[in-house]
Amino acid sequence: MLWGLFVNLIANLALVTAFLFFSDRFLKHSESNRVLSKYKLTVGAAHGLFGILLMFFSVPIDSNTFLDFRQIAIIAAAHFGGFYASLISGILIAAGRISLFGGVNVSSMTATTTVLIMGIGSGLISQYVQDYWKKWYLSISLCVIVICGSMVFLLGNDRVVQIAPFFIALIVVGGLFTAYLIRYLWKANQLVQQVEQSEARYRQLHILHEAILHSATEMAIVVTDVQGRITIFNSGAERMLGYQAEELIGKHTPALFHLADDLQEHVEKRNMSMQQEANAFEVLIAAARNGQTTEREWTYVLKNGNAIKVDLIISPVKENYDHILGFMFMATDITLKKQSEERLLRANEMLHQLTLLDGLTQIPNRRSMDESLSACWEFADRSSQPISLIMIDIDCFKSYNDTYGHLGGDQCLKQVAKTIQSTIRINDLVARYGGEEFAVVLPSTTLEEAEKLAEEIRARVEQLHIPHSGSVSCGWVTVSLGVSSIIPHSGVQSEQLICTADKALYLAKQEGRNRVAKDHTLIFPV
Ligand code: GH3
Ligand code: MG
Ligand code: MG
Repeated sequence: MLWGLFVNLIANLALVTAFLFFSDRFLKHSESNRVLSKYKLTVGAAHGLFGILLMFFSVPIDSNTFLDFRQIAIIAAAHFGGFYASLISGILIAAGRISLFGGVNVSSMTATTTVLIMGIGSGLISQYVQDYWKKWYLSISLCVIVICGSMVFLLGNDRVVQIAPFFIALIVVGGLFTAYLIRYLWKANQLVQQVEQSEARYRQLHILHEAILHSATEMAIVVTDVQGRITIFNSGAERMLGYQAEELIGKHTPALFHLADDLQEHVEKRNMSMQQEANAFEVLIAAARNGQTTEREWTYVLKNGNAIKVDLIISPVKENYDHILGFMFMATDITLKKQSEERLLRANEMLHQLTLLDGLTQIPNRRSMDESLSACWEFADRSSQPISLIMIDIDCFKSYNDTYGHLGGDQCLKQVAKTIQSTIRINDLVARYGGEEFAVVLPSTTLEEAEKLAEEIRARVEQLHIPHSGSVSCGWVTVSLGVSSIIPHSGVQSEQLICTADKALYLAKQEGRNRVAKDHTLIFPV
């Protein structure tokens, strides 16, 4: 009897395992319970047939009574297909019991009733109990009670008391084994599904990542591992730098493209040390190693030796927000942008020069003088320093033009301008103030110093010995100069300095030209 039970247990467990394994393979990609409950009839029928098969491996108790795992087929049908599946499996097993194992007799009718009660009971339990384990415990308990009852009915109390431990053990062990196996297969399926889903997601991301990398042809994208070895070199990088990905991947660091002087300058600016090539990469990713993303201009040296300006973003490639897996270098060629920026800058400078320079004499124009006078005035005001001004007018210039022509007059103007410019000091400023008039702004200069400088200008112009037959003083071109000086104070404007210098110039003309006259009216006592 015991041996029979053991053989029966092993054979039934093997059958249950095989059945569940095949049904699991069949259900592999579905959420078993929900999908199967749609096919109650099929599930019920399959489990019913399985229950009949199990009856061929039963242990006989007497000539008409035998024990097996058919109850497991019913509980499994309830689990996978719900109430109706459970009921159908019960009916099928009952029919099988009568037709295949001894026909209609007390024993088979009792077994049929037992099977139907278990089918209905397990079905109801599966419908109303949610918890998986609770469902199985309740169904197994129900089977134990019903089978015990039927045994007592068929064999009498005494016989049942003798064999009860064995068949109860058989029902409980078989039931728990099946429960564990279903649970295990379900979890394994879930795991496989999760792996497949994440693999599909990974594949999708990988395709997306490749597409982005290689469609960004205007941007050079280079990715390295933490040591700096290049792991990705996109087609934009190939186009920009002239290298092929295979030449660099795993062999070089992105420091290869950087101008050495550029890196050195960066090192000096950041007070870093860079002794060898390996360190050049560390210089580049110093901030990225601390998790920061940086963007700045660098010079890239291409494979053919040409240099280009790039806007380079260097960022860490992180996993789980903190673990750095490598570094990403995204470069955009800004050479053309830089060139047009520089051209614009130069054009602006030229334009500025043009607005401040006199076209004929190439010395500052009146506008430039106004600006410089107000700047000097402000400084003199703040520092209580004197500021002086010399107004210069070429004598009898109208007659010069009349005699030597307008072009000759222009040449004369240029010579005089050049002479004044070469006579004044570094901080002084000469400007063409009007037609043949010049003004010299003299910061931090007293009236006496200005007068001396004016006299020097006068003498040097005279010494040019530019012939002027219409001159009233001598046979050369001469100039008259008016000097004024002031220490700025409240209530006085810079225009007054021009006014008084003009007045002094008028005086010099009055007194016979080719001379210096000064105006004292503005001098403010220190
Ligand atoms: P004065 O000694 O009193 O200054 O006599 P002046 O003849 O110089 O008198 P005025 O200031 O009236 O004459 C200035 C002349 O300068 C008139 C104009 O023809 C001439 N002039 C002004 N600008 C230019 C210029 O750009 N080129 C030439 N060639 N002549 C100019
Ligand atoms: Mg004049
Ligand atoms: Mg004149």
